[in-house]
Amino acid sequence: MKLAKFWEPYKEGKEKEQIIQCHLCPHNCMIAEGNVGICRVRQNIKGRLYSLVYGRPVSTHIDPIEKKPLFHFLPGTNTYSFGIVGCNLKCEHCQNWEISQALPKDFPVPEVKPEDIVKQAKAAGCPSISYTYTEPTIFYEYALDIASIAREEELKNVMITNGYMNEKPVHEIYRLIDAANVDLKGFNEEFYQKVCGAKLEHVLAALKTMKKAGTWIELTNLIIPGKNDDMEEIKDMCEWIVAELGDTTPLHFSRFFPMYKMKNIPSTPEQTLVKAKEVAQKAGLKFVYVGNIVTEKGENTYCPKCRKLLVARSGFGIVSNNIRDSRCAYCKEKIEGVWE
Ligand code: SF4
Repeated sequence: MKLAKFWEPYKEGKEKEQIIQCHLCPHNCMIAEGNVGICRVRQNIKGRLYSLVYGRPVSTHIDPIEKKPLFHFLPGTNTYSFGIVGCNLKCEHCQNWEISQALPKDFPVPEVKPEDIVKQAKAAGCPSISYTYTEPTIFYEYALDIASIAREEELKNVMITNGYMNEKPVHEIYRLIDAANVDLKGFNEEFYQKVCGAKLEHVLAALKTMKKAGTWIELTNLIIPGKNDDMEEIKDMCEWIVAELGDTTPLHFSRFFPMYKMKNIPSTPEQTLVKAKEVAQKAGLKFVYVGNIVTEKGENTYCPKCRKLLVARSGFGIVSNNIRDSRCAYCKEKIEGVWE
């Protein structure tokens, strides 16, 4: 257990009456003594808020960075990846619900100190550490401590996140985060609230703060038939990205497969993904990818100026890379990203 950051007493009183408020994410949970917040991993113990998952990684792997997906960040490298029990959202289509919706007691694991995560990443030859699989927001204190050591050791830090974090904590941790893939789940408040138990406006605010912090941002949008596949909404989302994050922000449309509480919904038709890509490109986005589906060119990077093939990908591997010194090898156009 570790004393948590970003909380304050809400109501002082006798032990049983002490209520505190957590300000780590936009839920701003009021937590009575002995209880946990919506994420189930931050507990009020005698009027103080503790993280129950500090130092308790439950899933650790070495992944290609392309799997996150991050296509404009150290292509062809591996990233030391881990996740922890819990999440502050309740998406009905969660791919990792067995750990994201579990309780810490369901996964009793030995403690791993922050410095040991960094040592393991270095020993595995990974140039980056990814905070991933569930939601790094809810293991904020652990991620912050690891990220600080990793920065000193010249490793890069990568967040794979739903972006549901309040401005102050975003500001504090993202100065250490080199890249993030943010799951922008849709562009409709009703969808966010009903399907994910969150509010879109807070994700958009966090994205702007991450951008200001200088983090390289890529976005993933999982398209679920009948839920968030309205092309007008997708157009509005893409226009917002162009206006607020820039037209060189990579956007990954991803194919939905039936799972968790959405087993009755069919997979995304290929045609929907193709159409969404066209809409995004028309809105001005220069790097639009289609994933979770086998396509011939959907995951390749092309120069937005001369249209030549720059990075050819197959599965999670790099087939060829014609970016030199962050520029197109053919026409010398600058290609935004972190390439080395
Ligand atoms: S981090 Fe957890 S406890 Fe804190 S506000 Fe969010 S859901 Fe509530």
